[in-house]
Amino acid sequence: MYHCHVCGAPVEEAPWGEDGRTPLFDLCPCCGCEFGYEDSTQAGVERYRTAWLQGGGVWKNSKDKPAGLHLEQQLKWVPAKLPIGIARRIA
Ligand SMILES: [Zn+2]
Repeated sequence: MYHCHVCGAPVEEAPWGEDGRTPLFDLCPCCGCEFGYEDSTQAGVERYRTAWLQGGGVWKNSKDKPAGLHLEQQLKWVPAKLPIGIARRIA
């Protein structure tokens, strides 16, 4: 299981690919971040997370939210390390 780097939501595929350098450009079902765009720098990740939390930390697609998942638990799933591709210029 993989998790969004912004909000910790469980996602089926690695947001930045198995090599950490190949973003999917998919949208997070929770915070709506586009992997490889809003999360392409450390500052971007933090800015997006702050904005999402200020908006209540809710799931954009509420039907995708795992039953019984609490925000507190979800935030614990935010990966401690960012993929190697983040904060580097991607062509
Ligand atoms: Zn997210």
